[in-house]
This record gives sequence, structure tokens and C-alpha cells, in this order.
Amino acid sequence: MESKTAALPHAGGAAANADAAAPSAPRTEQRAGPFQARTPGGEEPLDEIAETAPGAVRELVARARVAQVAWAEVPVGERAELIAKVKKRLLARAEEIAALVHRECGKPIEEAALAEVLPNADLVDYWTSSIEELLDESPVDLDPIAYPGKTGRIRRDPRGVVALITPWNYPVAIPLRTLVPALLAGNAVVFKPSEVAPRSGALVASLFEGLLPDGVLSVAQGGGDVGAALVDAGVDLVVFTGGVATGKKIAVACAERLVPTSLELGGKDSAVVLGDCDLERAARGVVWGAFTNAGQSCASIERVYVEQAIADRFITRAVALTRELRPGVDVGAMTTARQAAIVRRHLEAAVDDGAEILAGGAPPEGSLAFPPTVLRAPREDTPLLQEETFGPVLPIVVVKDAEEAIARTNASRFALTTSLWTRSHERAHALARRLRAGVVTINNHGFTGALPAAPWTGAGDSGSGVTSSPHALAELTRPRFVLDDRSRAKRELWWYPYTPALRTTAFAMARVRGGAGLFGRVRALVELVAALSRRLLGR
Ligand code: NDP
Repeated sequence: MESKTAALPHAGGAAANADAAAPSAPRTEQRAGPFQARTPGGEEPLDEIAETAPGAVRELVARARVAQVAWAEVPVGERAELIAKVKKRLLARAEEIAALVHRECGKPIEEAALAEVLPNADLVDYWTSSIEELLDESPVDLDPIAYPGKTGRIRRDPRGVVALITPWNYPVAIPLRTLVPALLAGNAVVFKPSEVAPRSGALVASLFEGLLPDGVLSVAQGGGDVGAALVDAGVDLVVFTGGVATGKKIAVACAERLVPTSLELGGKDSAVVLGDCDLERAARGVVWGAFTNAGQSCASIERVYVEQAIADRFITRAVALTRELRPGVDVGAMTTARQAAIVRRHLEAAVDDGAEILAGGAPPEGSLAFPPTVLRAPREDTPLLQEETFGPVLPIVVVKDAEEAIARTNASRFALTTSLWTRSHERAHALARRLRAGVVTINNHGFTGALPAAPWTGAGDSGSGVTSSPHALAELTRPRFVLDDRSRAKRELWWYPYTPALRTTAFAMARVRGGAGLFGRVRALVELVAALSRRLLGR
């Protein structure tokens, strides 16, 4: 494989030169570990990673294509036995994984262990124990009178070579959510991690080392140009998680090549806090949902709509809880200077538009230690309420009632997840049906991305791809219908020659099956029997 030694970013001092206005430019910024004081050694460079030359990606895909054919021949039970070993490796390397993600992305160790390690063990369990049943052939009911001697079955075949392109915010969990079922289904995967988290990407691949035939899983390291080369390299499916702008580019590239694609994009999730909620739970849940992973989650709470009746009490409690958060312990540093600059821009615009900062506020220019920030926002036509912020900022909007909260939630171009906070579960279920969101949580937020059996999906600018659950497997495979005809007849009713008897048969059938009233149907039945007998005699 052609490769060059990376000019990939190293951990280091925070850079102040991010250009938020050029989100697709290759990143060369440096990043810091979370709050350097708490990260001994966080300033020293990490090991170098070999970058894959865009020109070498096609070769990786060609190798994957050959390997996939043999891999798909391995019985699914054997594939499951091999991949089940990943669980033990994950758990045995829990501390190493958490430490690496902490250093590379700035996540607190606890978050890294809870979000990037433990749910992945469940994920491996779920898929390896259910894959045989999920891939099992299923019969299709065929009417024995209309289709004598015929049986039909649906198989689920692998797509072939899957391109997996992932972001930096959950650099272990997000790739594994697709890798495990894709490989179990018999696909080969070429995986392009984010250039911001290349070591986590390499670590993910190393969990499969020695388990898979050569070429079944390979890693293409590098930036957007490597991702674009992968999309162009003749793959059979692109599974992408990332930002809307990149998602659109990939959608266009895939459309031009007629390659199916699964896109999981951004979010602007709301929490709808109703007057009858358990206020303490709602405030704690919203504060966690907004600030976990320093707000760098597609499902972060980026808007709160709180009913007027409890607004003051809720805001007071949310602000108090936010002030209790310890920088670097509860809330990590942001991962990139580019993202921190976007958050700063949204925050400043919101303040210009009349928002009042109640806790936190922007850090000194260039710092990644963005304090968790709460605002009361009087208006919604500001980027902080419209665009994905992807940082630790929580705008709270006071609304008259639930109706207004639902209308405002649904007005967004994003539609990933929404949470409803109320003691009335019946009302919550009724409201949930009216929400435009792929996931609705009642009295909780966001964590269901960790449930392997629960679909994670969105609409609008959040994309329509599905991760987890049998619905995701449907994207990673394609149905193949196999019809077996054991009829001894020499020809079918609908084969040549086309004759008047066939025409009469066809129209009589239409009348018998509902195209006429009662008497018309009886008359058609008589015609049908006569025409069928003529047809069976070859006329
Ligand atoms: P980006 O869209 O910038 O990048 C995502 C991946 O695409 C990276 O590996 C990137 O490479 C690669 N890439 C960039 N340009 C191209 C291209 N032209 N063709 C192919 N690949 C390309 O997203 P971020 O990494 O900044 O991640 C943050 C985004 O991800 C947020 O919007 C967030 O909401 C979303 N996200 C969505 C989730 C969901 O489930 N819906 C879950 C998690 C995150 P490189 O990084 O090297 O430039």
C-alpha cells in the first residue's frame, strides 16, 4: 500500500488560527488534551500515523473486493464466532482506549469509558448473537392457485465493499456501530476515520487484527481528499457520519456513481420541558444532555423550550447545576479550534441578538477550554438557535405551552432526537407522535445511540441513514429474492401466445376480483372458467 508519513495533527498547544468559515479545508490545526493541567504529557506529540495517499485508495478497494467474496462464503455462525472475540479485546483494553480518546479528543476519561467502551461490548453481543437469525432466509407467501408449484424465499446478501467514513466526536463507538454488523453480514469494509482522530481509528481496526482474512477490513487514513477518493473508488455502499456540508458532497458524488449511501448528519436537538415535569430530574438531564462530550454530539441538547409556568425555577436550577460542573473533570476541552471558533461565533451573535448569558461565556480567543454556558434567548432567528453549534452552549427559550414547543422543535431543518420532560406519560406519547425526530426520549436524552437494538436515525438535514437495529442491517445488505418453480406445466398462463382466450381471462379476472358488482362478478366467473379451459387447451 502506498503511504506517506503523516502530516496528521499531533496533540499539542491550542491553536488560535482556526478558520471557521472554511469547514471543508484540510485541517492542520493542533489540538490539546483536555485542560492541559489535568493531562500529564498531553503536550508531547503522539506517535505518527501513516497517511494513505488518495491514489492508493482504489487499490485498497480492489483488495477488499477480492477478500469479500471469500469472506461472504464463511458461514455466518463462524463469522460471528470470530467477531465475538472483539468484545473481550475491547473490555481488556478499556483503560487504554479511554486514555487514547481522552488524549486525542479531550473527553473526560469517565465519558470515554462509558460512551466509547462499555456500549461497544453490548453492541458486539447483540450483533453476534442475533446475526444468524437476522440473516436467515424468509419465505414469501405465494397463492398456490395463481402460482402453482412455486415457492419464494428472500435472502439478505452483503452489499460488497462498504466505505465507512466517520467523524471525530465518538471515534471508537461510531465506527464500531457500523463495522460490526457490516462485517458480520459478509461485507468487506474500507474505513476512513477522521483525520482529527486517526489513532482512535487505528485502534478500532486493531481490535479485529488476526480475526479477519487479509483485505476484509482496511483503514484509509487522511483528510477529506482521502474520503472523496474512497467514495470514487468503486465501492458498493457509503456509510457516512459527519456534518451536513460534507454529507451533501458525498450524496452528490454517490448519486453520480449510483452508489447507495447512508448519511447520519448533524442535529439541533431540543428538550421540551413541560410544567408538570420532575424539575430536578429535568434540570439534571438537560444539563448532562447539553454538556456531555463538551456538547460535541449530534444529539446534544442545543435548544430548550420550557413552559412559562416553571421557566424561572427550571432556569435557576439549570444554571446552578451548570456552575457546579468542574472544567476538565465533568466537561472536557473542545476537540478542535475550528469547532471552538464556530461556537464562539454563535454565542457572540446570540448576545448581539439580545440573549443573556446566565452561566459560563466564551473563553479567551484560541482556548479550547470552553466553559459550559447557559443563556436565556429571547428570539430564535439567530445562528445559535438555527444552526448546529456542536459545543457546550445551552440556549433556553421560554414558551407559552407545549404546542409552541412542538411547533418550534418541528420548524428546524434538523430532526435527529428530541426529549420530552413531563410526569404525564400518556401526554408525552401523544406529543411524541407529532414530533419530527428519529428518536424521542421521554424524561431522558440522547443515550439511546448506545443501544444496539434501537434504531438511530433522523430526517431533513440530520440525514436519513439508520444505525443500529435490524433497520441498519437492511442498509448494509440487499435483499435477493429466489423463486423456485417445481410446476410440471409446459407453460404459464401469461406466456406466449397472446390470444383472445387470454384477453378474456385477464378481464374476467379483473371483474371477479372486484371490478364489477355482484351479478357482474358471477357472470365474469362463468366467463373465466370457459376462457381458462380454452387457454389450458392451448388456445
Ligand atoms: P465532517 O463532515 O467534517 O467529517 C466527517 C468525515 O468525512 C471525516 O472523516 C472527514 O475527513 C470526511 N470528509 C471530509 N470531506 C470529505 C469529502 N469531500 N468526501 C468524503 N469524506 C470527507 O464532520 P466532523 O468530523 O467535523 O464531525 C462532526 C459532525 O458529525 C457534526 O455535524 C455532527 O453532528 C455529525 N455527527 C452526526 C452523528 C449522527 O449520528 N447523526 C453522530 C456524530 C457526529 P476529515 O475529518 O479527515 O476531514
